[in-house]
Amino acid sequence: MQNLLDLEPAALAQYLAERGEKPFRARQVSRWIHQRFAGEVGAMTDLAKPLRVSLADVAEIRAPVVLRDSIASDGTRKWLLDAGSGNAVEAVYIPEDDRGTLCISSQAGCALDCAFCSTGRQGFNRNLTTGEIVGQLWHANRTLLAEGIDAPWIEAGRAPVTNIVMMGMGEPLANFDNVVPALRTLLDDNAYGLSRRRVTLSTSGLVPWIDRLRDECPVALAVSLHAPTDALRDRLVPINRKHPLASLMAACMRYVERAPRDFVTFEYVMLDGVNDQPGHAKALIALVRDVPCKLNLIPFNPFPGSGFATSPRERIRGFANALQDAGIVATIRKTRGEDIDAACGQLAGQVRDRTKRRLGTRIPIVAAH
Ligand code: SAH
Ligand code: SF4
Repeated sequence: MQNLLDLEPAALAQYLAERGEKPFRARQVSRWIHQRFAGEVGAMTDLAKPLRVSLADVAEIRAPVVLRDSIASDGTRKWLLDAGSGNAVEAVYIPEDDRGTLCISSQAGCALDCAFCSTGRQGFNRNLTTGEIVGQLWHANRTLLAEGIDAPWIEAGRAPVTNIVMMGMGEPLANFDNVVPALRTLLDDNAYGLSRRRVTLSTSGLVPWIDRLRDECPVALAVSLHAPTDALRDRLVPINRKHPLASLMAACMRYVERAPRDFVTFEYVMLDGVNDQPGHAKALIALVRDVPCKLNLIPFNPFPGSGFATSPRERIRGFANALQDAGIVATIRKTRGEDIDAACGQLAGQVRDRTKRRLGTRIPIVAAH
């Protein structure tokens, strides 16, 4: 069976053209799937019956299976999704006053092994397919609408998810071939119709793919910086040994020239005593001086055995102030969904932490409901 969620708009048009259908049929089918969240071809009632019947024989709409569904006291919602072979990924919905942001995953696990990241500790399992990436958004919108959640933008006729951040599990640029078609589906007017500014991809700094993203599908870019010198970043974000800071900064400058936003967001996780001293702030100011950017300081989310601690609140504030005094826009990320462990770097942690991934042991995941 062809999973229709795997087909980006051009591929869907091609697929239907091969079946003798006109392009407008692809737009119609796309709207059924991505705007009305049809769960099966049979539900597409205004498709000509012969097409509906023949398509239902060969195609389906298959999003990842939900293993666990948690709601935090602040409204943050987390879905644990089956990725097969005992693997799981997560998607997190974060409602705010004027938007609904969905944090989505791009890989089961991650090969890049950043020192402070629980996903990295799990090692790499596999790339998610385009359908599994788009399926997270399809599932969130469909579920939230069916439940009748209210928000001003939903009342105005928009879908529950207004913004996407690719900040869940995995390194999206290491799964470029599946991520880019997913992005195109997010952006397409007959699918989710999100503006490029409302879709943010976060990368640990895969320089050649930053350039490809700029050329093929520029969206808002966040870069996980976390250290102002190569010596420290080599330790915290090992991909730095391959793509050091000078080449990363140059790639960011090239990206900004064509990006939907005129800045790059640098993420900087605040690790007690490691990268949070006044000297680090000074080096960071010097590093980013020429790059149009905003700094987002992320309080470290601890997990068992991480070996790191979160910087004290006052130190994070002092660090932000130092940046601001140098004319750099710096914000401190609010932690959401704390009571369900929905924060950055903790995703799917509960299921995975108890398994020793490095030793290759796999335990089956048991659904909690
Ligand atoms: N692989 C991509 C996107 C996923 S991680 C990347 O690294 O950018 C999303 C963000 O969470 C990254 O900035 C990452 O460095 C950060 N992060 C990872 N583990 C964390 C932790 N334990 N506490 C706080 N932030 C963390
Ligand atoms: Fe992978 Fe990002 Fe975690 Fe690094 S921080 S290990 S790149 S998911």
